[in-house]
Amino acid sequence: MRPEPADRFPVEPLERGRPEADRWAAEPAPLDGELLSSWLNRYAWANAMGPDAFLRGLRPVLGRNVTDPDSAVPARFLEFLARQTGLPVARFTLLQSGAHAWASLGMEMRPAPYFCPGCWRAEPAPYVRWGWRMTPLQICSEHGSWLCRRCPNCRAPLSLLQGVSRRHLWECAACRHDLRRAKALPALPVAILGQGLVHDILDQADAIAREGIGKEAFRVLSDLDAGLNALAVWRGGRPARRWSGDPDWPPSMAPGAPSMTF
Ligand SMILES: [Zn+2]
Ligand SMILES: [Zn+2]
Repeated sequence: MRPEPADRFPVEPLERGRPEADRWAAEPAPLDGELLSSWLNRYAWANAMGPDAFLRGLRPVLGRNVTDPDSAVPARFLEFLARQTGLPVARFTLLQSGAHAWASLGMEMRPAPYFCPGCWRAEPAPYVRWGWRMTPLQICSEHGSWLCRRCPNCRAPLSLLQGVSRRHLWECAACRHDLRRAKALPALPVAILGQGLVHDILDQADAIAREGIGKEAFRVLSDLDAGLNALAVWRGGRPARRWSGDPDWPPSMAPGAPSMTF
């Protein structure tokens, strides 16, 4: 008889046990606003597995063609996770992009999430928020700093599901650097204001849909995103200093680049 997908997981030496075939632990449970890939990473860690190994074991349910679980997964996959953990399926549905306002407003996901090392340093259970993967969100309002884009040590973008070895989500998948130690650049007040406008629009997503002004809202969000990008490069009218927390800083932009209008 063909084994259930959960019967076979490649594992490393156990620290806290591993998922059993019939039932898994309910912890760590998904957190509010968390990315599915973030939860998968944290769940693999709690069960002494590398994220890639965990995902491989789930392939028969997930399907071969899903390369990025954050973009879309089959409903049967979420139902499987709910059944195994005993958690309501709604907890897993909320990990999908469609559950969030920016999806209805047409905003896009970045190929890799940005991250805030300050949030991770302050949290007992660091996780990756949906907002860190969406184009109009570039600043952590909690810490008033720009989100980091890459590992300061090796320049690799954040990867949550790469690697067969067990690792925390705040460890760089490429070089194992502790990304909680990355330096986040403080954002100018005008940039924080711009980011606040983005949040205000996202908070009104339902009303925007009711009014049928999604296209207009999308245009404003895109302009705000472009404005924030420009602010990330230009500080006080001068190119930003190269910043050790982000080796790509500033992104390439010719002198005479646009000044901010919002
Ligand atoms: Zn933060
Ligand atoms: Zn690295």
